[in-house]
Amino acid sequence: MLKGIKKDQAASKKGAVDDAVIEEAASVAIKETVDMETIAYESRRRTVDEPIPLGIVPDLDILPKTMRAWVIRRERHGEPIQSFKEETMPVPEIGPNEVLVLVMAAGVNYNGVWAGLGQPMSVLDVHKRNFHIAGSDAAGIVWRVGSNVKSWKPGDEVILHCNVESETHSARTETPYDFISYDPMASRGQQIWGYETPYGSFAQFTKVQAQQVLPKPKHLTWEEAASYGLCYFTAYRMLMTQAQLQPSEIVLIWGGAGGLGVFAIQICKMVGADAIAVVSSKDKGELCIELGAKGVINRKDFPNLMFKHGETLEEQNNRFSDMKRFGQAIWEILGERRNPNVVFEHPGESTFPTSVFVCSRFGRIVICAGTSGYDCTFDVRHLWMHQKRIIGSHFANALECLRANELIRKGIIKPVLSDTFTYQEIPKAHQLMYENKHSGKMGVLVQVSRRGLKNTEEAIKAST
Ligand code: NAP
Repeated sequence: MLKGIKKDQAASKKGAVDDAVIEEAASVAIKETVDMETIAYESRRRTVDEPIPLGIVPDLDILPKTMRAWVIRRERHGEPIQSFKEETMPVPEIGPNEVLVLVMAAGVNYNGVWAGLGQPMSVLDVHKRNFHIAGSDAAGIVWRVGSNVKSWKPGDEVILHCNVESETHSARTETPYDFISYDPMASRGQQIWGYETPYGSFAQFTKVQAQQVLPKPKHLTWEEAASYGLCYFTAYRMLMTQAQLQPSEIVLIWGGAGGLGVFAIQICKMVGADAIAVVSSKDKGELCIELGAKGVINRKDFPNLMFKHGETLEEQNNRFSDMKRFGQAIWEILGERRNPNVVFEHPGESTFPTSVFVCSRFGRIVICAGTSGYDCTFDVRHLWMHQKRIIGSHFANALECLRANELIRKGIIKPVLSDTFTYQEIPKAHQLMYENKHSGKMGVLVQVSRRGLKNTEEAIKAST
């Protein structure tokens, strides 16, 4: 068939066959290949040991024993392009409170980069398995449910949140604070699915606890629905629960065009707070303004701002003067000498001294990561004299995820999907994230055959 196409192409050059004929021949060729694969698969459906072909939605009664998956192993730790490798893996078995999901699309997160790098620790040492399938965001179809699961049934279209609750989590933990003692995030056994657990979303099937399952917003495509959970739910808890964000407050958002930042800006807008976004390029700045930021600051205009350990006295002095200029840039945006009531932190080491410095009196620095390093340093006088608070935050509990997801279902908060990759491009998408060459969120197609499809019916039609 390929030969035929080449021949047609040559003929076309000579004017004998027009472009429409070539396109027709190519589409027949592609369809025939897909049909052959599907027919071969259908004929095996009683003993499905092999993975189902990519791009199809099989009948619900089919459960293959194996699946295609991108796998990280200890000997491959390094940059994403080398650490992710495709392998055939067993489809995971589910327990009584778990759900097996056919992954239609998945979302790319920085934790996949960390898992691949094996830094700050190898995730294989966390879950003690010799393989790791990364991926903490997905949209898909419920395929099997455990015997105790009543809230979901096979065929339901869903998204997944990534907080795995501890099975030993008692009604109350040892924390003296009543208001958090019922929060599953307070439990010692809490884990992040697809990072601290081995079966994430970069595979045809994944397994999760039933409480991790949320309804898929119907108006979104599979790839949009798969893109927001981890970052958006994290930003929601940071600002709404932990920082208790109030209308008319000012929020400084580091990495405003990044995965967390694009949602932090939208949450500020929703609450009536003013977001000031920090970025490293003009394009990223424009995205932040589009999303509702009051202003943007390009951190490249402050070349000495970033803290590094072992800096000389001169470097330190230069940093102090950039910190002051940075504070003035905030005032210029606001048109008055007000400091941010909330600083939305995640770069960590490099930005933390500035975050504590520019935060207002009685302000809150809410932090969920240390992308540039964990050893944060700052001038503690700014903290105690002005009674600022540093608040740690980590993902979100099921209630927060549910509430935040409702805002997406109502169209109040929107996914920000900058790019969608194919299943084969999963390592490449992570490499772009590692090199900070992306903005917003990146999605990947897993079992859905192409972009733009919103439900099972459309996905089945597109694959036949
Ligand atoms: P992302 O999409 O890569 O965005 C991060 C943004 O931060 C980048 O766009 C970049 O923006 C900025 N940035 C990177 N390095 C920086 C530095 N040294 N100084 C200042 N800004 C810097 O990543 P993300 O999805 O937002 O995640 C950010 C971090 O949070 C990651 O480490 C991730 O693992 C972590 N995280 C933690 C949780 C949790 O539950 N604890 C949840 C989600 C994410 P510019 O270059 O434009 O400034």
